Amino acid sequence: MLEVRNLTKKYGNEAAVKEISFVADEGEFVTLLGPSGCGKTTVLKAVAGLEKPDNGKVLLRNEDVTGTKPEERNVGIVFQSSSLFPRMTVRENVEYALKPHVTDRGERRERAEDVLGLVKIAEKADTYPDSLSGGEARRAELARALSYKPDVMLLDEPLTGLDRALRTEIRDEIKRIQVETGVTMLFVTHDQEEAISVSDRIVVLNDGEKEQAGTPRRLYRRPETRFVAEFVGESTRFDGVVEEGGKGVRLTTGAKVGVNGRGEGDEGNKASVYVRPENVELEEGDHNNVFSGEVVEVTEMGSYAEARVETERVGEVITKVDGFSDVREGEDVVVGFDDSDAIVVADDA
Ligand code: ADP
Ligand code: MG
Repeated sequence: MLEVRNLTKKYGNEAAVKEISFVADEGEFVTLLGPSGCGKTTVLKAVAGLEKPDNGKVLLRNEDVTGTKPEERNVGIVFQSSSLFPRMTVRENVEYALKPHVTDRGERRERAEDVLGLVKIAEKADTYPDSLSGGEARRAELARALSYKPDVMLLDEPLTGLDRALRTEIRDEIKRIQVETGVTMLFVTHDQEEAISVSDRIVVLNDGEKEQAGTPRRLYRRPETRFVAEFVGESTRFDGVVEEGGKGVRLTTGAKVGVNGRGEGDEGNKASVYVRPENVELEEGDHNNVFSGEVVEVTEMGSYAEARVETERVGEVITKVDGFSDVREGEDVVVGFDDSDAIVVADDA
């Protein structure tokens, strides 16, 4: 188990990371998600012992390791760019990493063999790093970091520089390996889709601070801050003031969006309502929020399309429709969504 407690790290006078706390339970896949520069790598380095925090603690297996050297911590690291030793074969790279942990040479060889098999790179064992493909190099690095059975694996944007198909392949492999080995993983990415697809839990960082932590489902369905609502997933946003009882939000245009009590406790306060494109239908149905408008743009994505509808009363609404459907730009339509699908975030959140 990994615990980061009140971690603060400054560079000069600027705090790169402020008072961050989170836990990764044994066998859990936890992702640090946030835009470039928000402090993800700094947190990872503090966990690895490569940066000394100004305040706070790092605990591994309930032991305070804050003051220990990197080599005294049993962590596996995979960085953004390749760090394989070029003059060693893949096998030798792994055996070298095992040296401080396993004294017996034969056992090192056996462990290397096993882990290279696990990450499906055994056939490249006697190859030098510069003749590996991008995907193979990532696998080799995963093997090396896994070989000595670390307490936690740290992966800093490990899919950077891979093309789209390979990103998906290696992403799925990382997840498979984590499930198969039960290793605790702390994964870093700026890509919210990537985070949602692999994580048990996500910690969202913004400008050095923790915004919200939770399951992907929770973050997507119940974002608690404006930043999380806008960074995780797509949505249409309506700004207004919460009405008596928290049942609706009155927009500046005068129109009301029903929010099914989600505004409770925030009556009279400014708030934003967010609605996901897949929750908006191009028909009245039995939705309690219905607005008429005109389709102004259809963007095809293949399996689905995104339609932008300009409504008179609530402005632009984005909806998802079937790919290559009959929806046409210029068409008069209604958009409908349920008040139970409305996400409400108070202005000061
Ligand atoms: P991320 O990995 O999320 O992109 P980083 O942790 O690398 O973010 O950086 C967080 C902030 O700290 C950034 O503003 C960055 O410029 C700053 N920073 C990171 N490393 C250093 C350093 N060695 N010296 C000074 N500033 C740094
Ligand atoms: Mg980084």
